[in-house]
Amino acid sequence: MTHEFSYHAPGSPAEALEVLERHAGDAAVLSGGTDLLVNIRSGLSKPSHVVDIKQIPELKTLNYDGKNGLTIGACVTVNEMLAYEPVAESYAVLQAAGEELATYQLRNRATPVGNIVTASPCGDMSSPLLCLDAEVVVVSSNNTRRVSLREFITGVKTTVLAPNELVREIVVPPTYAGAEAGYKKLKRIKGHDLGVIAVALVKHSGLFRVGISSAAPTPLLLPEFAVGTSPEEVQDAAAAAISPIDDVRCTKEYRAFMVGVYIERLMSEVGA
Ligand SMILES: Cc1cc2nc3c(=O)[nH]c(=O)nc-3n(C[C@H](O)[C@H](O)[C@H](O)COP(=O)(O)OP(=O)(O)OC[C@H]3O[C@@H](n4cnc5c(N)ncnc54)[C@H](O)[C@@H]3O)c2cc1C
Repeated sequence: MTHEFSYHAPGSPAEALEVLERHAGDAAVLSGGTDLLVNIRSGLSKPSHVVDIKQIPELKTLNYDGKNGLTIGACVTVNEMLAYEPVAESYAVLQAAGEELATYQLRNRATPVGNIVTASPCGDMSSPLLCLDAEVVVVSSNNTRRVSLREFITGVKTTVLAPNELVREIVVPPTYAGAEAGYKKLKRIKGHDLGVIAVALVKHSGLFRVGISSAAPTPLLLPEFAVGTSPEEVQDAAAAAISPIDDVRCTKEYRAFMVGVYIERLMSEVGA
């Protein structure tokens, strides 16, 4: 690592926000570091200040109740989320997608919040959280706002976050708790790999929702369908919504084809 930065390890959200405010635009938040440190090392990111939030107890909240739903604090790792019983019991799509994110070792560091802030089109947490109508709680020194995930991610690796803001937590409403669901991720290899495309499906109350990753600049949520809709209709809606690209991992044609294949398989497996 050749880039030098000042390291801050605040003990409270207020302290972290004060550092971000003071160095707005030249400071980066460090959670698991599995994206940030890779980017610093490769020269993509050159913050003069790194604000490590892992010592902040308030950001480790992991909670579920029937009224407010699931709260995933900024420093909760993917493995902690996966080990939390209400997730396994009530949010099958998060469980399935979380298990697809990188390796076990990476998941000990990587956080769902870091995943959505990175806002990569292939991030494994985004399309499942879109299907669940997740909201993002954003804080700054003088404000707290709740932004729906649909609005939070604005483009390839861009979000609505201002330089002086921090994500405190993701809130998943109880609406889809207990919903049957599935997640399919196409990779180049059998082991861990970034998704070439991924499709999430959540079925609830006679309706189902489909989220798609890696097939457009941002993860997509299709309009809701009634259970019993033909796979062709859903595939047509997906084809109209996606704008896949060619890259080193895949052609756009194969991406589009596999979105259709996964929609059909998930509809059959989940019984949509
Ligand atoms: C080998 C390897 C394999 C990977 N495989 C996958 C994969 O299969 N699927 C996948 O989706 N991802 C994968 N990733 C990417 C990465 O692990 C995930 O995106 C991870 O969830 C990021 O979380 P983090 O806590 O490590 O984030 P960090 O690296 O700490 O932060 C990521 C970004 O978010 C910002 N940030 C973090 N927390 C906050 C906050 N609370 N408020 C404001 N900004 C914040 C940081 O400043 C940074 O810009 C892989 C990475 C590696 C190195």
